[in-house]
Amino acid sequence: MTRIRLNNVSKQFAPTTNKANSEVIEAVRKLSLEIQSGEFFTFVGPSGCGKSTALNLIAGLEHASSGEILFDDNSVSQLEPKKRDVAMVFQSYALYPHLTVFDNIAFPLQLRKVAKPEQRSAVGAIASKLGLENLLERKPKELSGGQRQRVALARALIRRPRVFLMDEPLSNLDARLRLEMRAVIRRIFLEEMITTVYVTHDQEEAMVLSDRLAIMRDGEIEQCGTPLDMYENPRTQFVAEFIGNPPVNMLKADIAARLFPALISRIGDSKSSVNAAIRPNLLTAVKAPVSGKSSSDTAVAKLIEMTGPDCWVHLDYEGVIIRARVPSGADISAGEHVHLEYSLDDFIFFENASGLRVELTAVEN
Ligand code: ATP
Repeated sequence: MTRIRLNNVSKQFAPTTNKANSEVIEAVRKLSLEIQSGEFFTFVGPSGCGKSTALNLIAGLEHASSGEILFDDNSVSQLEPKKRDVAMVFQSYALYPHLTVFDNIAFPLQLRKVAKPEQRSAVGAIASKLGLENLLERKPKELSGGQRQRVALARALIRRPRVFLMDEPLSNLDARLRLEMRAVIRRIFLEEMITTVYVTHDQEEAMVLSDRLAIMRDGEIEQCGTPLDMYENPRTQFVAEFIGNPPVNMLKADIAARLFPALISRIGDSKSSVNAAIRPNLLTAVKAPVSGKSSSDTAVAKLIEMTGPDCWVHLDYEGVIIRARVPSGADISAGEHVHLEYSLDDFIFFENASGLRVELTAVEN
């Protein structure tokens, strides 16, 4: 098992010859990070934030402009990808079309001239873990997308690399297969304990798969931590808004204080300088306030969203859309005026100018 360290790693791309675009692109800026051995670590963030570049730097497909990358205590910064002993799985399956599934999976062992009986037992073992036992004689064109991606995973895993790297491996699959493959990947990697670095733009995928994740923004790490920590303790507004589905409600403090009157005691004089955030599942839509519970002003139900076990309402308050949970049995319809039950302690606050989290404690009236 291998520990990966990035020390102050930056990557700049030279400007293109196109004169309209003559600036150096800083894809990754001063990345410092330690990925523990056996850890499943994910870079997640919006398009262009630098996550694939970070992965390619670890793979050796790109060379850092400055800084150093270490596997355990040895620098790999100058090593070619082959010498780093990493396996990669991409969005495209990159299988050999003329080879059977068996030969595709066995290919890395054939390169190493592993004896045939050992090849057969290794392919058999990995194929059964990935549910490919009955497909070994097929060619890639006779497989579904999910099956092809499992073959690609099997071929990478059979090498037992030091480090496993995956760049959006599930992007080509439909929603249902993505969920299935997500579970397969999590299960396999819990068993294998190979240090894995994963890239995705999908926050839910990152949360479900990872031991830890780094949310990237403009080439830098905005926050790094466990999924639960990122969800419960976002250090910036960007992280709070990136993580969570349905997304967090982010309200300008003056509007928040009108909708949720008890908030005045927290917001006090900060009305123009902070945003108040609360997760939709922490707001309960009710037709009438219940005594003893904090209830909001009324807002108009615009849309009811039923997702199966959960039901959400989109409310319009002064032109701002707020999402809240509809408890089971509550008969709320679009067009109705409803209240929201809330707890003051569930709100968190962010400074407008910097986007940083601020703690607001109760102020005396
Ligand atoms: P996506 O999710 O869209 O793949 P990403 O977060 O993986 O995005 P990167 O592919 O790492 O982002 O790109 C980061 C920045 O670097 C982008 O602005 C991109 O245009 C730029 N970039 C990436 N590769 C190159 C290259 N070879 N030459 C020039 N610019 C590049």
